[in-house]
Amino acid sequence: MHPELIGVLFFYMTCVEIFKYIENWAPTAIAWNKDNVGLQVGSAERKVKNILLSLDLNMKVVNEAIKKDCNLIITHHPLLFNPLRKIDTDRDNNSLLIEKLIKHDITLFSAHTNLDFTKDGVSFELAKTLKLKNIRFLTNLKSMQYKLIIFVPYSHLEKVANTIFENGGGIIGEYSHCGFRTKGEGSFKGSEKTSPSIGRKLNYEKVDETKLEVLIDSWKLKKILSAVRKIHPYEEIAYDVYPLNNEHTNYGVGAIGETNQPMNQYEFLNHISKCLRIKNFRYTKGNGNKLKTVAVCGGSGSEFIADALNEGADAYITADIKYHTFFDNEDKLLLIDAGHYETEIFSLNELNNRLIAFIKKNKIKVFKYSKNANPVNFYNKSGAKIN
Ligand SMILES: [Zn+2]
Repeated sequence: MHPELIGVLFFYMTCVEIFKYIENWAPTAIAWNKDNVGLQVGSAERKVKNILLSLDLNMKVVNEAIKKDCNLIITHHPLLFNPLRKIDTDRDNNSLLIEKLIKHDITLFSAHTNLDFTKDGVSFELAKTLKLKNIRFLTNLKSMQYKLIIFVPYSHLEKVANTIFENGGGIIGEYSHCGFRTKGEGSFKGSEKTSPSIGRKLNYEKVDETKLEVLIDSWKLKKILSAVRKIHPYEEIAYDVYPLNNEHTNYGVGAIGETNQPMNQYEFLNHISKCLRIKNFRYTKGNGNKLKTVAVCGGSGSEFIADALNEGADAYITADIKYHTFFDNEDKLLLIDAGHYETEIFSLNELNNRLIAFIKKNKIKVFKYSKNANPVNFYNKSGAKIN
């Protein structure tokens, strides 16, 4: 192969490679079941020129993508949420956006609740922006894991174990290659139709085996079993799969952490205003305690107030809080509605940093939408004010 051609191949990257990278961090399997994450419009096989990140899609975002020669736009909120019945470019904004994306060969991809529920996702980024320490999930996702128990002859143990690990099994928090091995004796007797890899058919065989136990994410089961089947020596592999009710340490809702030092309410509200760069937000009077333990949930997180209280949070910052929710929690904790856009926009920083690290020497550039796409404005005496 010509050396120049090797260079060209090395720098070539398709949209689907970017999708896989993002979904390895924020798997679609953890998204809310009514969400519509992933490819929205266009081709996944398209060769990526440049990438534009935005919380939402509107015509100004598409125009900026065209101007900056971006043929992949990644948004947090999906463009397509409800099933499309027609693409009406005379009356419907979304239809116009779809038409423009297709006309300009732009692919649109969204990472929504999967980015909300992953480590270093939307709520973790909000917590980091608020300079919290010891950040962890407010509530961990449950029932997302299986225990895979597989019986392997000694000779093939490492090969089977490594295959499981290489395919994403055996991850607990920040640890990989986690497994437990118990030595024992397996037995079998093959029928006339078998050709056992150890011993003879129609013979009662006993073999030194290891029982290997590994935690696996439920969505990886098929891929792991299929990879193991290719290298396990037995015709019929003995294995068990148990559903678990464990809390998943890597996926969850919201985030909680501590401030550097306890603050009074005035100091804390100032801190929020400064960190999130906002002048207007709504809050309750709270319970009067000094503020130290702080829970957050980027976007609409009213339904997790009880979790924040259970975890002993002095304050909870989220968005889209209703009047009656404020009323019901008025004295319980400092409840803050800092705005949907304002509590989510910082997540683009982490996505941006990760993508830049992933594409490395590639010539692809990653941009964040340069303007404010927040549809909500605040009025003050000097007139309508864009945030
Ligand atoms: Zn949102």
